[in-house]
Amino acid sequence: METLIPLLSVQQPMIAEVIVDIAHSDVDKIFDYACGEEIKAGMRVAVPFGRSTTTGFVMRVKEHSDVPAERLKRIYRIEDELPAINEECLSLAEKISARYRCPMALSLRLFLPAELRRGQVGRTFKEFARLSGEPFVPSPRARTQQLLLAYLEEHGETPLSVLRAQFPSAVAPLLKNHAIIVEKRRSLRVPYRSEEGSEERHILTKAQEQAVSAVREGEETVFLIHGVTGSGKTEIYLTLIAEALQKGKTALFLVPEISLTPQMFMKLRGRFGRKVAILHSGLSAGERFDEWERLRLGEARIAVGARSAVFAPIESIGCIVIDEEHDGSYSSESAPRYNTFDIAYLRAKYHRCKLVLGSATPSVETYRRARSGEFGLITLPDRINARPMPKVHIVDMRREVRRGNATPFSSALRDKLRACLDGGNQAILFLNRRGYAQTVMCRDCGNVVKCESCDVPLTYHSDENCLKCHYCGAKYRPLPACPACGGTHIHYMGTGTQRVVGELKKLLPDARILRMDVDTTSGKEGHYKILKQFAEKKADILVGTQMVAKGHDFPSVTLVGILDADMSLHFPDYRSGERTFQLITQVAGRSGRAGAEGEVVLQTYDPENYILRFATEYDYEGFYEHEIAMREAMMYPPFVKVVRVMVTGEDEKETLEALKTVYEKLQKIYAAHEEDFLFFNRMHSPIKRIRDRFRYQVLMRMTESAPLKEIYAAVSEEKYGDVLVYVEENPSNLS
Ligand code: ADP
Ligand code: ZN
Repeated sequence: METLIPLLSVQQPMIAEVIVDIAHSDVDKIFDYACGEEIKAGMRVAVPFGRSTTTGFVMRVKEHSDVPAERLKRIYRIEDELPAINEECLSLAEKISARYRCPMALSLRLFLPAELRRGQVGRTFKEFARLSGEPFVPSPRARTQQLLLAYLEEHGETPLSVLRAQFPSAVAPLLKNHAIIVEKRRSLRVPYRSEEGSEERHILTKAQEQAVSAVREGEETVFLIHGVTGSGKTEIYLTLIAEALQKGKTALFLVPEISLTPQMFMKLRGRFGRKVAILHSGLSAGERFDEWERLRLGEARIAVGARSAVFAPIESIGCIVIDEEHDGSYSSESAPRYNTFDIAYLRAKYHRCKLVLGSATPSVETYRRARSGEFGLITLPDRINARPMPKVHIVDMRREVRRGNATPFSSALRDKLRACLDGGNQAILFLNRRGYAQTVMCRDCGNVVKCESCDVPLTYHSDENCLKCHYCGAKYRPLPACPACGGTHIHYMGTGTQRVVGELKKLLPDARILRMDVDTTSGKEGHYKILKQFAEKKADILVGTQMVAKGHDFPSVTLVGILDADMSLHFPDYRSGERTFQLITQVAGRSGRAGAEGEVVLQTYDPENYILRFATEYDYEGFYEHEIAMREAMMYPPFVKVVRVMVTGEDEKETLEALKTVYEKLQKIYAAHEEDFLFFNRMHSPIKRIRDRFRYQVLMRMTESAPLKEIYAAVSEEKYGDVLVYVEENPSNLS
């Protein structure tokens, strides 16, 4: 006997659970709205809210609401035809809000391109023509009409512009006779020039082959590929991505900043064509939106980009790769302050796919997890084709100074530069300071000139002849006299990239020099243009900040000069040693990648420093052992967590009041869990003011069992007016 199942009455409205797109804790809850059956979870909708209309996200659709029917308002309309956020991402947004204590609206926004939210997308449309199917026989004299119809017969739907160009006179009469139909449809821009794309492909080496199968067959979810620079990690990633695609799945490929690595861009385009969508900062708003849309519609199946690409709208992910996993750009610096790895891990778990991290210099935290067996560890100790690692020469700059050399170049570096250029090769000079001179000091009173909005010294820029603040971008006229004492003995101290280029021109008048730093790479294709010129050997020497260290593969570079290796060593930050090691290894890794053997000249005032010693010998293991022992002894991450609650505001008094409120709340937590805290104090931040905002902090070091949730809760439950209060976990920048 069949049992009868009553159908739902057609009249009965459905109920949508909606989060309104207003990032405020007061409205951070589910609101029920009546809706029709066309409403699906993940859609953006317009809803009546208070006295106005607002956008909302449908989280769920259900049949019953506790709100009485007469008080239930109705959804006005659907904003996008397709749900903007899929189920996986909706639940991910919920997890993010719970973890970082931020309003749902903020978490949901991570999944949408800003252009979509602001409703500013210039969607581009194109007209397409197809056969109408109605019988129509053109007159035998109308030859082009016959050709056009035959063309459509063979090719199917075709852009109208193509037909107009090929059969100019035929389109109008055929339209008039209803033989063809024209429809306007969305056309998605692909923001690349067609000539881009490198077809270069390699047969995997044995080591690469083994790495691929270790990931493919391994039990773990996360794998770390620790491979020296030039060991061919990229080819491993691309193979894993291609395998995911072959299985009908998609892939996520995260890189620190794609516009810095055009070679990677070309490889991806060459191998995957339109299947890859590259979300990078150089795209226009419309292009960015279209790339996102191509992913959402499934036309593109590989999402490539910096950290925000981890939220790409793709389904059935088969593989996630995080290249240069140690890079600081993977932690978000605005709310919610997520860590890209954590999000990628949740997605990998959801899709039951592998998450592959790669680096020549893994972060100490990651390496520890890999060594403990939590992550699969794959080691590639050799470069492709057994190319030797470039030899590093340490130069003691104290001796250079004693010998009266006041230039940024040691005599060893000068000799090697000449030899390098004479041999027709290229060189990279690295200095992590832009501008001309780092500090402007009055010799009469010792006053250092600072920015009016920030508590930081100004940098002199020679090309614009101005003083610049590197924190807020403010520019000031160079000073004829000291603002403090009126003295006129103004001294420009420290060397930046501009000064290096100036000195280099004196030293090697015939050399063609390019400079790459924040000042020369603005604009849509800033980096790309410089790197392209250098790759095409239109320059001999590339001078730059850490941008030159990132993943580049220039076969003719045989000399790398690290002008001031100590630069990043002495920051008041537990990571400064690790950073220095990473930076030196990465820059050194640009040398000798093909052809002639590479060399590195490392200039330092501290030649015995152990970090530099390990870096010169490419001894990651040695560095790690030393570093992890030190972190354990000093109780720094990964053995504890550094948590900083930042309090910043324009009004100093208000800021201090907010600091007091937060501090008292946190103190209660501290008092109840004192055994979990190693350090707990409030203070000025190292930089006391940035962009006119005063900066105070409560700094904590705590064990893993400390109640982090309570800290987030304490910070978020209070309102602080115009003062901004937020939590940072193991912040990558402690200034
Ligand atoms: P990494 O990312 O580990 O620094 P890359 O992936 O950039 O290294 O590879 C270094 C160089 O070796 C590149 O020029 C690349 O084209 C080349 N290469 C990679 N795999 C192979 C291979 N299997 N055979 C020959 N050359 C390769
Ligand atoms: Zn400033």
